[in-house]
Amino acid sequence: MERYDIAIIGTGPAGLEAAITAKVRNKTVLLIGNKGSSDKVSKAHTVQNYLGLPEVSGDAMAKAFLDHAHSMGLEITEDRINAVYAMGEYFALQGHNNDYEASSVIVAAGMSAMKPLPGEMENLGRGVSYCATCDAALYKGKTAIILAYSSEDEPEAEFLAERVDTVYYLPQYDYEGNLGGNIQVTTGIKPSAIALEDGRVILETDGDSYTADGIFILREQIAPSQLVPGLTMDGNHIGVDRSMATNIKGLFACGDITGVPYQYIKAAGEGNVAALSAVSYLTELKKTQV
Ligand SMILES: Cc1cc2nc3c(=O)[nH]c(=O)nc-3n(C[C@H](O)[C@H](O)[C@H](O)COP(=O)(O)OP(=O)(O)OC[C@H]3O[C@@H](n4cnc5c(N)ncnc54)[C@H](O)[C@@H]3O)c2cc1C
Repeated sequence: MERYDIAIIGTGPAGLEAAITAKVRNKTVLLIGNKGSSDKVSKAHTVQNYLGLPEVSGDAMAKAFLDHAHSMGLEITEDRINAVYAMGEYFALQGHNNDYEASSVIVAAGMSAMKPLPGEMENLGRGVSYCATCDAALYKGKTAIILAYSSEDEPEAEFLAERVDTVYYLPQYDYEGNLGGNIQVTTGIKPSAIALEDGRVILETDGDSYTADGIFILREQIAPSQLVPGLTMDGNHIGVDRSMATNIKGLFACGDITGVPYQYIKAAGEGNVAALSAVSYLTELKKTQV
């Protein structure tokens, strides 16, 4: 497997600026996220406070950011990272589509407004999973619930349905799909809590409760402490110093995920600092390896 110098999780202003800076410093970069940058960029109506782009629409700003990245030969790998593990001199990244390796990691995954459900974190790995592709085999011939937050999750449901007996698919978005067969779709259900009883998962909702062998929660963003086990948090944010270093050697964070103010220019600035700090870390790492 190729080992990149720097893996960057997130393609908003923080991740893209980190990638551009790392590229300027001749590092091999794995940039993972959405090909269209970030919804928080492209969906903004008008932005008035980004240097050099006065009165710019979100769409135009996303295009400017992506054009800059592409002009430097940067490619975006479309995937969602579920976990990052520190392995000593490198990091292993587990994605929905693939696994990756890098000598250092920059987390630029933004902030999600969504809070975990009561019982979600407590039962993670004990019936609660974030990745159907990774854990489907554990539920062969059993039943599973999918809480889906985007139509992009529908192929995950089809994949899971090939392995399990029944899938209860509960879309949390305006569902217009045509899932069928052993996938039972119910719309308009709001989940409220997850419990584990006799090895089975119970999902409480504003209507019926659902019992199954496992539940897959397919949010676009997961809690940072879940993404990287062992991270020191500062409230809801990743704790960093002025060099954007976290408590895990070789792992840096930037943008909204490190704290307020939530601003494009702050995110991009921190992306620049994180990349330069990762470059210094790689230089030191190389010396110890020699
Ligand atoms: C409607 C709106 C208008 C705004 N207007 C302004 C404004 O006028 N001026 C201003 O300065 N700020 C504004 N903001 C704030 C600004 O959007 C944020 O501060 C900025 O986008 C943060 O950048 P970021 O790169 O840290 O995170 P984000 O832009 O949130 O990007 C994070 C990216 O990481 C991806 N990601 C998350 N988890 C994973 C994972 N596990 N694997 C792979 N990828 C992942 C996400 O999909 C996303 O693409 C606005 C925000 C909104 C919502």
